[in-house]
Amino acid sequence: MNLPQDLLDLLVCALCKSDVRPDGETLVCQNRSCGLIYPVKEDIPVMLIDEASRPCPKCAASRDWKESEDALQCPRCGERFQYERK
Ligand SMILES: [Zn+2]
Ligand SMILES: [Zn+2]
Repeated sequence: MNLPQDLLDLLVCALCKSDVRPDGETLVCQNRSCGLIYPVKEDIPVMLIDEASRPCPKCAASRDWKESEDALQCPRCGERFQYERK
């Protein structure tokens, strides 16, 4: 992955607006309770919640994205992260 620093400085998580950091071929949200992992395809970051990996911070299962509720919910342990739209 080869993203210019000024682009990285502009990118934020689509859900919680926290900073993202590169990790391998992905960008990881730095808000631990959110923690979405965005793919980078051919050096183009895909900052879409639907395209992101959404590991649960407690059990690492993949959380479901409930768009109507602005929430991530873990089907295994029930961990829920709700984003409040501003
Ligand atoms: Zn986030
Ligand atoms: Zn869980």
